[in-house]
Amino acid sequence: MSMTSPERPRIRVGIRQKVLLVLVGVLIVAVGTTSWLNLRQQERDILKETRQHGEDVVRFVSQSLAYSVIGYDYHSIQLLLDEVVKSQDIVHATVTNAKGRVMAEAGQIPENSAPSNSFSHVIELDDKPIGSLSVILDNRRIVSKLEEQKRSMVIREVLLILLIAVGEYLALSYIIVRPVRIISTSLSNGVGPDGQANDRIDLDSNDEFGRLARQFNDLSVRLNEANVRLHSKVQVADQELLDSNRQLSDQSEELQRINDELKRMTVTDALTGLYNRRYFEELMENELALSMRHGETNSMLVVDLDHFKTVNDTYGHRAGDIVLQSVAILLGSEMRRTDIICRVGGEEFVALCRRVDRQEAIRLAEKLRASIETHEVEVDFRRLHITASIGVATMPDGGEVSSGEEFFRRADTALYFSKKNGRNRVTHFADVRGRGVKRPKADSGGVR
Ligand code: GH3
Ligand code: MG
Ligand code: MG
Repeated sequence: MSMTSPERPRIRVGIRQKVLLVLVGVLIVAVGTTSWLNLRQQERDILKETRQHGEDVVRFVSQSLAYSVIGYDYHSIQLLLDEVVKSQDIVHATVTNAKGRVMAEAGQIPENSAPSNSFSHVIELDDKPIGSLSVILDNRRIVSKLEEQKRSMVIREVLLILLIAVGEYLALSYIIVRPVRIISTSLSNGVGPDGQANDRIDLDSNDEFGRLARQFNDLSVRLNEANVRLHSKVQVADQELLDSNRQLSDQSEELQRINDELKRMTVTDALTGLYNRRYFEELMENELALSMRHGETNSMLVVDLDHFKTVNDTYGHRAGDIVLQSVAILLGSEMRRTDIICRVGGEEFVALCRRVDRQEAIRLAEKLRASIETHEVEVDFRRLHITASIGVATMPDGGEVSSGEEFFRRADTALYFSKKNGRNRVTHFADVRGRGVKRPKADSGGVR
């Protein structure tokens, strides 16, 4: 059993979608990288600026505090520190004397202040250190400024990417997708039933697509021309084939006709046009054997002209031939259409009568004998009369016959007795069965 995997639904992704995906990816990487680098630089600049600002502030405040520190004027120091903490983004300020003792403090130390936001400066008077000032700057403003910059950068980035993507999308659609679609539509029109390309690609740009379209159009023109030439050659070849087929068919019919004629000639007696001995033997072998198997009743008449030699001797061989032809015609007219008549010897005929029993066969033979007897043959203004002796056999009447040959032999034996008993008579085999066969003597009948 073969396992076939279920067919997955196919998502159609066109050139536009693919290009757009690649484009957006590249843009995100490019714009994202540059923006990140810009942001880092801005962060550094802000920190530098902040540090500079902090250092300026502590230097300035230190100078303002110098006299108050040397004079231990705690009140003024405190006032100044309070003032400083209220402004300048400073959240905490401490003044210590030369021994490191805190003289005044203002504001609160933020919980997570970075060291970079703390600034200290030595308070000097006449170049002698008399104390120090430490301040902590408020970094919330810096942080929010940076956040603000990040936000606007992301918005800018997104807008930029969208803008570039849409622009590129439209440009690509026009430059690549439109010509591809025109080519694809023309190609899908394909080739007509006559083998002609249906369409030409209507694209006249100077780029690769235009060149492709022109090459395709040239190619399809050449193909169409070749197709027309081929078509006419095929038509000629078809016609030739048709003619030679017709000739062959005529020749074949002629051959068949000749063959039939040859076949007919091989089974026909040339003098009388009746079936010949060869056909008679075939008949005995095949058809008669079949009807014997089926137990059909058949009769056979063997007709031999009496003293025929005398006809030849008296009137000539040609006259003998005319008599034979005349008797053949007579036999044909006397017998039934279903009877088969053959000339099996010089002046000897056989008639095979199917489904004819003994009585009927004797009656038929008698009628035939009488017809021959009264028949006149005109030869050279002379009227000849002849007689015939007939032997009859019927099967299976009087016992089974094992072969056609035996059937014929029985009729021939009956004929022998017709000759023997005076000629011009009919004998049935059933009446002479078991009697000895001897050469007959010349008797009555014959030529008159
Ligand atoms: P019977 O009464 O005993 O039959 O005597 P018959 O003379 O008819 O018999 P026989 O067999 O002696 O002679 C047959 C003759 O038939 C001999 C031959 O010359 C003649 N014959 C055979 N074939 C032909 C033929 O095709 N044409 C002609 N004209 N004569 C033929
Ligand atoms: Mg004979
Ligand atoms: Mg004879």
